[in-house]
Amino acid sequence: MEIYCQRCNPRETFKIPDFSFEEKKKLQKLNADSPLQAINAIRTLHAISLKDAKFVISHINPKYKVCHRCQKSLNEDEYTTCPNCRSLNFNWNLNS
Ligand SMILES: [Zn+2]
Ligand SMILES: [Zn+2]
Repeated sequence: MEIYCQRCNPRETFKIPDFSFEEKKKLQKLNADSPLQAINAIRTLHAISLKDAKFVISHINPKYKVCHRCQKSLNEDEYTTCPNCRSLNFNWNLNS
């Protein structure tokens, strides 16, 4: 999947692998403790460039339907743009 963030740079696209539910859980948890560890973990799970891995990690929202950047509420789309700050969110619903 190719994706971009309107806030960072709408002209720069990133290639994102298909993450399994378990991978998403692991990455979200690691990201809360140490974004650097989360970046390393992505790179052991998938063939992904450092640039793409950093993009993923910096756009995962810690809380479902809450923007990682401005804490405003989001819709239910898995990859969604915040209506307030225009930042992309990896809006993973991991509680179901
Ligand atoms: Zn961004
Ligand atoms: Zn926002």
